[in-house]
Amino acid sequence: FSSQRHAVVTGGNKGIGLEICRQLASKGVTVVLTSRDQKRGLEAVCKLKEESSVTLSGEVVFHKLDVTNSASIDSLAEFIRTQFGKLDILVNNAAIVGTVIDYVALTGAVERVGGLPTDDCEWKMMANQNYQLAVECLETNYYGPKRVTEALLPLLQQSNSARIVNVSSVSGLLQNIPGKSIRDALGDIENLTKDRIDKIFKDFLGDLQQGQLEAKGWPENMSAYKLSKAALNAYTRLLAKDFPSILVNSVCPGFVKTDMTGNNGFLSAAEGAESPVHLALLPETGPSGLFFSKKEVSNL
Ligand code: NDP
Repeated sequence: FSSQRHAVVTGGNKGIGLEICRQLASKGVTVVLTSRDQKRGLEAVCKLKEESSVTLSGEVVFHKLDVTNSASIDSLAEFIRTQFGKLDILVNNAAIVGTVIDYVALTGAVERVGGLPTDDCEWKMMANQNYQLAVECLETNYYGPKRVTEALLPLLQQSNSARIVNVSSVSGLLQNIPGKSIRDALGDIENLTKDRIDKIFKDFLGDLQQGQLEAKGWPENMSAYKLSKAALNAYTRLLAKDFPSILVNSVCPGFVKTDMTGNNGFLSAAEGAESPVHLALLPETGPSGLFFSKKEVSNL
């Protein structure tokens, strides 16, 4: 096969994912920009080509991918196999927050207008999780990357410089989850298995459904999002152990202004994309099985 590098980016139609696509293509990589929505994905490819026509040295092509849908994942794997025969870079970027944002009036008028804050009173933003959204969050943020990775592993193994980047979050760092049993379970990489992760999720969802999170000893503010990212970090380490020829790392891009954060943040989407892109282009001697907070290695 050719020496041309090929990358797949999930959730590439907007935010950090779109910028990862742009930056990889500007380094000469052929990028498969994927999106769960065909229209949004094709528009993103057009936007990239129009805005960056001078700076893109690599191709950008679109393929539909919903990371929660096995048929969609299989179709992408078949596309990569027939078009390129190998894959060099997989960036698992797609995710959802998995909470409903409610605005609670602190002072002044309490009438809510379309669920959004109005100017005549002070509001506090509250993140509320419910069972259904928690299921979707774990499916998208943990099982999504896991299924996509498993489907594409045979193609990554055809590359002599394979990289997997799992876009994660510092909120999933075990040091930020004040619950000993979960820290012990997800931190003990020697004894951790994918079945053990499934069991932790099952317990969490069961306790959430019955309103028993606190009573069952889950840490305060434990959310499906944090759990999904903690599990993604653990999966990163399992993959690195099982596939020593592939450099696999997870990374928190920083606090980035995107739709996910309601456009709050310290970094632009382009700045947020820099650390995932850095890990996607690691040299042969680069690290594997680590968590990076932006470009710095961080303890779990
Ligand atoms: P955005 O909400 O802007 O983008 C998320 C992307 O994921 C969208 O393209 C969305 O597609 C896609 N997506 C969601 N569900 C699916 C699915 N089932 N299948 C395929 N694609 C899906 O978020 P960001 O760009 O901010 O986030 C990118 C990554 O960075 C995430 O992993 C996030 O957890 C992580 N991160 C972000 C931080 C920040 O401050 N922004 C901080 C820490 C981590 P669609 O447009 O169709 O909804």
